[in-house]
Amino acid sequence: MSLTSQPITEHAVSSAIVALCQFIKELFPGQEFIPLHEPRFVGNERKYVLDAIDSTYVSSVGKYVDQFEAMIRDYTGARYAVATVNGTAALHMALLLAGVNRNELVITQPFSFIATCNAISYVGASPLFVDINKSTLGLSADVLSDFLKNQTEFRAGNTYHRETGKRIAACVPMHTFGHPAEIEQIINSCREYAIPVIEDAAESLGSTFGGKQTGTFGLLGTYSFNGNKTITSGGGGMIVTDDEKLGKMAKHLTTQAKVPHRWDFVHDHIGFNYRLPNLNAAMACAQLEQLNQFISNKRELTQQYKKYFERETAFKLIQEPAGARSNYWLNAVLCPNRSHRDALLAYSNDHGVMTRPAWQLMHRLDMFKDCPRTDLPVAEWIEERLVNIPSSVRVNG
Ligand SMILES: *Cc1c(COP(=O)(O)O)cnc(C)c1O
Repeated sequence: MSLTSQPITEHAVSSAIVALCQFIKELFPGQEFIPLHEPRFVGNERKYVLDAIDSTYVSSVGKYVDQFEAMIRDYTGARYAVATVNGTAALHMALLLAGVNRNELVITQPFSFIATCNAISYVGASPLFVDINKSTLGLSADVLSDFLKNQTEFRAGNTYHRETGKRIAACVPMHTFGHPAEIEQIINSCREYAIPVIEDAAESLGSTFGGKQTGTFGLLGTYSFNGNKTITSGGGGMIVTDDEKLGKMAKHLTTQAKVPHRWDFVHDHIGFNYRLPNLNAAMACAQLEQLNQFISNKRELTQQYKKYFERETAFKLIQEPAGARSNYWLNAVLCPNRSHRDALLAYSNDHGVMTRPAWQLMHRLDMFKDCPRTDLPVAEWIEERLVNIPSSVRVNG
């Protein structure tokens, strides 16, 4: 991808950095410090949280948990929704439900938040890294399909990785920064190889591809409601699926696998205490009521960034892929190279504008450095250049 037709001089870049920070300050007027993404509590949050306290139902049973799950089903169109303590727990459960076992492999992207790989490790499996697509920043459908064709073997209904002999038990694409990945092609490839897809939609609640909500394409999908996400419950997550057996099992396993009984304690699996507390669900309901407004507010902010970067070509704004509608959770720009990226990070963070580099690529971390992988030139190219810029819902925007 060429960012500009001519090489950019050092001076042009440093004045571009100063101008960008000035522009961001104008987008968020009256703020001494501009965070990357701060939550907004401008709806019924206080009312519902106080109501939850008054009801005495503050833990994992209560009307807000049921209401939040019903609202997510309505919003996403998924048939089953099970609330969890956080998005990482939701991913852990989804991997168990998809039938991932110890010593198996799970295809995912090296460019993601650590939670994806951590959850894969909780079930005793290892990530298998496949490169990302330069425009979606999610798993590359082409690299995936090439990999499956050339490096795996199909036996008795399962796909095995030739080099390690291990079964490929699932594929977890992630919708990076809210931008939908090439989800239909990924699902089609995986279907051919009988590999279940779990969408890590932690960042993309409300983003759609071909009009369908991210998180609802795969066998299972997961969301996060951490404080830095588009809407928050303080901490929280959700598992969604259309599969009745998996939906019921998700609820059962996250509730200590307790067999319903009026008084007896009977448990039929090793279960987890992963249910979302009612107190958090109360906040979540109030936030979800505002999700569509938040997304249009964020999309308006992106329009302003877009206009700005049409003139300021030292940086390239990441935009939603064709056919997709992004929630624009976090805006991101690509710098011409690593040293310009570092200059932007240093200057902005020194001047009250919070920016962050991409995550360190998973295959470079000690825990995952020996995991199998394809060549990862795009992930490495992106990691050298990408910077996230302030993206909060604007109160007066
Ligand atoms: C936020 C996030 C999660 C889940 O995070 P929690 O903090 O556990 O809710 C998972 N994957 C990705 C890509 C995320 O950004």
